[in-house]
Amino acid sequence: MQFTVQVTFRIGSRCRSRHYQTEFSAKRGIYKWLEKNQHQPDISASYFSPDSGHQTFQQFEQLSEYAPKPVDNFYLSRAWLDLRHEVLSSREHRCNLCHRSVAEHGIALEVDHILPRSRYPELALDINNLQILCYECNRGKRDK
Ligand SMILES: [Zn+2]
Repeated sequence: MQFTVQVTFRIGSRCRSRHYQTEFSAKRGIYKWLEKNQHQPDISASYFSPDSGHQTFQQFEQLSEYAPKPVDNFYLSRAWLDLRHEVLSSREHRCNLCHRSVAEHGIALEVDHILPRSRYPELALDINNLQILCYECNRGKRDK
């Protein structure tokens, strides 16, 4: 039998409940709900867990360690997609490392940051910091 956590969400005198597979996912759900409804005057979310007993939360700050990680939309941004298109159409369609091409070898090419975006965010949209790599070379580079 799977253990589930039943959370009761209350706004004023209105209640509804939802089941979660784990206490962790319940806390994440509560965090999101409390954040969304933070302007309501009287809210709470509560559940009972065999491990930690009865839990009640009224402010999402109580669960800040359960905040979902911000979504990284960089690779979906218009600026990146335009730049990527520019790189792929201005340079020869070959891998910078192994020099194979799409036409001759049927490989997939990717636009890669030479200096990683995580450490050099200011170069993320600098065309001189971009190179074309094939899928294999890019993964090989990342694995090192
Ligand atoms: Zn390659």
